[in-house]
Amino acid sequence: MNMVKKNDQIVIEIEDIGTNGEGIGKYKGYTLFVNNTIIGDKALVKVMKAGKSYGYARLVEIIRPSENRVIPRCPIADKCGGCQIMHMDYSKQLVYKEDKVRNCLERIGGFSNIPIETICGMDEPYYYRNKSQYPVGRNKEGNVIIGFYAGRTHSIIDTEHCYIGAEINTPIIKFMRSFIEDYNIEPYNEEQHTGLLRHILIRVGYTTGEVMVCLVINGKDIPHKKELIEGLISISGMKSICLNINTSKTNVILGDRIVALWGEPYITDYIGSIKYQISPLSFFQVNPIQTEKLYNIALEFADLHGNEIVWDLYCGIGTISLFLAQKAKQVYGVEIIPQAIEDAKTNAQLNGIENVEFYVGAAEEILPKKHAEENIRADVIVVDPPRKGCDKSLLDTILSIEPKRIVYVSCDPATLARDLKYLCESMYEIKRVKPVDQFGHSVHVETVCLLSRKAPV
Ligand code: SAH
Repeated sequence: MNMVKKNDQIVIEIEDIGTNGEGIGKYKGYTLFVNNTIIGDKALVKVMKAGKSYGYARLVEIIRPSENRVIPRCPIADKCGGCQIMHMDYSKQLVYKEDKVRNCLERIGGFSNIPIETICGMDEPYYYRNKSQYPVGRNKEGNVIIGFYAGRTHSIIDTEHCYIGAEINTPIIKFMRSFIEDYNIEPYNEEQHTGLLRHILIRVGYTTGEVMVCLVINGKDIPHKKELIEGLISISGMKSICLNINTSKTNVILGDRIVALWGEPYITDYIGSIKYQISPLSFFQVNPIQTEKLYNIALEFADLHGNEIVWDLYCGIGTISLFLAQKAKQVYGVEIIPQAIEDAKTNAQLNGIENVEFYVGAAEEILPKKHAEENIRADVIVVDPPRKGCDKSLLDTILSIEPKRIVYVSCDPATLARDLKYLCESMYEIKRVKPVDQFGHSVHVETVCLLSRKAPV
């Protein structure tokens, strides 16, 4: 017999926080997950789902707020899927993230006494994103809505102002709303795969102030282009207006084809002193200020003096590679997506950086191949894998190449801990671990870790 059943209303104390930012509390020993609660809250909750050993509940009312609780600046923070922990004081978010890294290294990695350096937080944890994607639709009453998806669903929460997006988004969305209404542009209907306008993608160059608006459409063209362009170019910084053609019945936001309507099909921005060209489809870090800090930490950990051969695995558009190239003899970047490598080469050229070479392919295939065929050395290896971490065969290759240092940049402390455990079982030891907050108000945390080859015994 479960302690609780669906629709029960009970009072619990939140004692822990889950990997997705949800509060965790116990009712007579039975675990409940409750969104929008934090450690220290005493809350009235309503049980939505009661499984055998744990269940999910919805917050009804905070009875006694945690001392770390704040009123989120954003009025839709509870509903919107974008921010999970905006109701936690920002300095406490940082403590939570640091703890998350420590817990993973201890529980998953089996490490103890690892000195974790103070997390590198944001000076201004608002309006930091340089890319926003607003879905467009209609509500039950038939009115046009533009906003963000609610957590884990595709229902759109209507909003004009996002507190973590660029401030220029607000006048753009205001204009788009009136354009859609005035000219009867039909929003896309996901269930029926009808209608035209799916998403509004906005990208902003943080340093340059350049703005791109890209409308994702289920069709070949958009009517009233003249009025659309006139309206958008009156917004300061507008540099690029494009269409992205996506006529597939899919959850994927962007299609493959870009049609430039006005201006260049790209904007430029800087990270540090390096310039990047960003098109609607390019991957680019969304928080350039923290990215610069992150890359500088990676560069410091790599400890380059000008003679080193460095590999940057999972290099994306070569952002870390170009940073490293400023201090290394030669950098080799490896990335699986061909378009990203095209962008990486363009960016190297744009900056006149010549001591870097890029390869398309899986890191776990390219590194052993180049090492065996061309006997390319590796003094330092930098890895920045996606959340699932590194392929085990790649770790084996790294172990066989024996670089002096490995700099592991991670977006998931759990897989980081797993991979570090493997690397440290044999030849390497952890020297430094520094978490970085790239995504204030979300549960995500980046970590830069320096491993060094143990001295032979
Ligand atoms: N270092 C880059 C991007 C890191 S994101 C930056 O800082 O901007 C991780 C990248 O790994 C993505 O670009 C993804 O396409 C790439 N990737 C995923 N699996 C890969 C693999 N097996 N080999 C090489 N690259 C891979």
